[in-house]
Amino acid sequence: MTFTRLVILAFVCLASIHGNANAKGRYQGPIIDMHLHAYEDDIPAALCIPWITQFPAWDTREEWNDIWIKAMVEPPCDDPIWAASPVDDALMKATIAAMEERNVIGVLSGAPDEARRWRDAAPERFLPSLEFRIGRDNRTPEEIRALLETGDFVALGEISNQYGGVAPDDERMEPFWALAEELDIPVAIHMGDGTVGTAYLAFPGAADYRAALSNPYLLEEVLIRHPRLRVSVMHYGAPLVDEMIAMLASHPQVYIDIGGMQWYYPRPFFYEHLRKFVDAGFGKRIMFGSDQGEWPGVIGPAIDIIDEAPFLTKEQKADIFYNNAARFLRFSDDEIKAHHEMAK
Ligand SMILES: [Zn+2]
Repeated sequence: MTFTRLVILAFVCLASIHGNANAKGRYQGPIIDMHLHAYEDDIPAALCIPWITQFPAWDTREEWNDIWIKAMVEPPCDDPIWAASPVDDALMKATIAAMEERNVIGVLSGAPDEARRWRDAAPERFLPSLEFRIGRDNRTPEEIRALLETGDFVALGEISNQYGGVAPDDERMEPFWALAEELDIPVAIHMGDGTVGTAYLAFPGAADYRAALSNPYLLEEVLIRHPRLRVSVMHYGAPLVDEMIAMLASHPQVYIDIGGMQWYYPRPFFYEHLRKFVDAGFGKRIMFGSDQGEWPGVIGPAIDIIDEAPFLTKEQKADIFYNNAARFLRFSDDEIKAHHEMAK
């Protein structure tokens, strides 16, 4: 068993908080999770919530990779969320169980066959999405077209080019943006935080992650060239909220996905972000995302942190948990009715 897999898991995204439940006004309806991953079962490692505080300052006499791994296998918190056992599809099964418990339907990012396999295990829960990264997947636009035209995938994403050092407006992405616009299929792109010290982790490719590529303005020329592109910014360009707000105002077709930032940052800081987006008038374009990859136990806390936000009304929670994503994904009235029935 190596730690390589452990490092991968944190790359694509992020981890959880058990807060004081405030029972009044809890959201009871269906939830669309725009940010799930179909990974393989993993090795024992755990998350603390907030994840960002799980890691110490770097004493540079040691390797950051060693410090990072130690923090994950010996989590410095009282209530860590452990990864699923690496046998018998435990990760997939535990993810489905967590979704059933909280009435979640999820957009599931994964490699084509893995995403399909999970969907087949719970077709009423999973909406497969085709994950993509320039330089890693090496799929041509023609290959991506053929996969998308199977109808198996509701979106192209997670596009995780930021981990490969590739900006949204990199010319290598141009044929893929054009393709998604032509096929009228949504795209979901990682823009924002990864894990702490990503570029110093030992896994191949980690060295190319750059915080500067979180900048939401890097999407602007893409949107101008492809105005019909349906874009979800996963992780909302965190922590660059003001820039993201400027983009939401200038480009009314753009949505954002909370993308695990609710358990990555300490709750007061995340709430500042969420409140800013809502107060700026963009409550209709914020979508829930747990960023569950390796820790099914994060789904509940990811929901609770939003549900316990003291400044959100019930209507605003319903928009974030369900209505906005249903609009973004263009669910039919019958599909929406079926989801509400499932949640009863
Ligand atoms: Zn991500």
